[in-house]
Amino acid sequence: MVHGFGANILITALYDEAGHLRGYSKVTRDLTERKATEELLRSVVDHVIDGIITIDEDGVVQSFNSAAEKLFGYTAAEMIGQNVKALMPEPYHSQHDGYIANYARTGQAKIIGIGREVVGRRKDGSTFPMDLAVSEFRLGHCRFFTGIVRDITERKRLEQELLQRVQELAEADRHKNDFLAMLAHELRNPLAPIRNALQIMKMPRAKGAAVQQGRSMMERQVQHLVRLVDDLLDISRIMRGKIELHKEATDLATVVQRAVETAQPSIDAHGHELMVSLPSRPIRIEADIIRLAQVISNLLTNAAKYSDKAGRIWLSAEPEGDFVLLRVRDSGIGIAPDLLTRIFDLFVQGDSSLARSRGGLGIGLTLVKNLVEMHNGSVTAFSCGPGQGSEFIVRLPILSEIEPYQEEEEPQQQPASPAGRTRRVLVVDDNVDAAESAALLLRMWGHEVQTVHDGPSALEAVCTHRPGIVLLDIGLPGMSGYEVAKQLRAQPEFKTLVVAAMTGYG
Ligand code: ADP
Repeated sequence: MVHGFGANILITALYDEAGHLRGYSKVTRDLTERKATEELLRSVVDHVIDGIITIDEDGVVQSFNSAAEKLFGYTAAEMIGQNVKALMPEPYHSQHDGYIANYARTGQAKIIGIGREVVGRRKDGSTFPMDLAVSEFRLGHCRFFTGIVRDITERKRLEQELLQRVQELAEADRHKNDFLAMLAHELRNPLAPIRNALQIMKMPRAKGAAVQQGRSMMERQVQHLVRLVDDLLDISRIMRGKIELHKEATDLATVVQRAVETAQPSIDAHGHELMVSLPSRPIRIEADIIRLAQVISNLLTNAAKYSDKAGRIWLSAEPEGDFVLLRVRDSGIGIAPDLLTRIFDLFVQGDSSLARSRGGLGIGLTLVKNLVEMHNGSVTAFSCGPGQGSEFIVRLPILSEIEPYQEEEEPQQQPASPAGRTRRVLVVDDNVDAAESAALLLRMWGHEVQTVHDGPSALEAVCTHRPGIVLLDIGLPGMSGYEVAKQLRAQPEFKTLVVAAMTGYG
């Protein structure tokens, strides 16, 4: 690509494919070629995407191509003869004369031959970032400068976006690291009392009461651990879009009852009083009962956790148009305004020392929000500030149905000890303790149990031991539980064998 100036000087500017100026040379041309050359130059200069502006030593514009017209909003006629400063906002506007003079005196270049990012000013006064590369040439005794300018608004926007993304990733990474540290801590916490309780139970002098106390301590701590791990599994499933709801038409009261049953021990442990108020007529919703109960019990447990001893918790539901508003309010420690805005974000916790002392991973409310949204609802948090209590409102669509509602049958609770029949059971689990403890329990219930710890042994044991039921771990080393089940099913004699999967993968 070329750009020329004057009678017999040709400046050949070289561009790469992206249109960036790579270099230029000056060539003197024969006068006979002058006209043709000028035509070519004009056409090229008028069609390049960069603005090309030539000025003299005083900063007066000599040429202004059509890309420059588009960039700055001035016509060439308006700019030629004007000082180029018109295209610069402050402080460049005021500095420009001094800058050219300084260069003329000292030869010290700040832009010439270097190229840099500057700010341009349009006719309408608006400014934009641009790349500017300036080359210098002489014509007789006069010195001229050609500036090639490119609007880099879009590039800057992308750079900004990229920078923001990088910052977000760094922030997420930091959160993750903090979370891992906290997770280790939270998982470690219940282990100390469990270990102590085990020690107590092992002591020969340990008598009934101490053993009983140790056992309930272990039960509580294990329950806490299970809840932490379940929350973790749930959130990872939600984040990967792997959670499936089993929705059915149900009465809100059924869900509330289930949630209260789950949260009651925690409410009682803190000595709080729970007041439940539901409308007298049934409110039909379409819900995954277990998941929605989990939402409400999470809110109730938080209300219990974040209230000082002997507080009050209110759970109420009221219809509002096509929706039902479910409120969980407490008289607890309240929520600071800055926390309120991020409270449903993953890993967000209030005062960390406080949250720590109350235990938790900062994922409960993220779960709540996601599960509520999967029910086409929304959840909002309110608090007048620290010490003022908190309120969480879950808004769910009411099911409008013509068909009469059929009362859901409560799932039958399995009796702890199945009466009568002794079964032959094969337990397959590579975690030996898990297998042996399950076997112990099954034996105490009167069954005949064998344990194995890998796939091939399971296949062999099914042939020799002839169990009626196989409890099969999925994540087995070498041969997965799925493969074991497939191979068993391939044999006609085991077509009807009951094979139950045991897995932590959900
Ligand atoms: P966790 O309880 O494990 O910290 P959550 O996601 O359930 O995680 O809650 C996030 C944070 O929100 C908590 O750390 C706590 O600061 C605040 N919070 C939640 N529920 C309440 C409540 N009822 N009253 C006051 N603060 C609450």
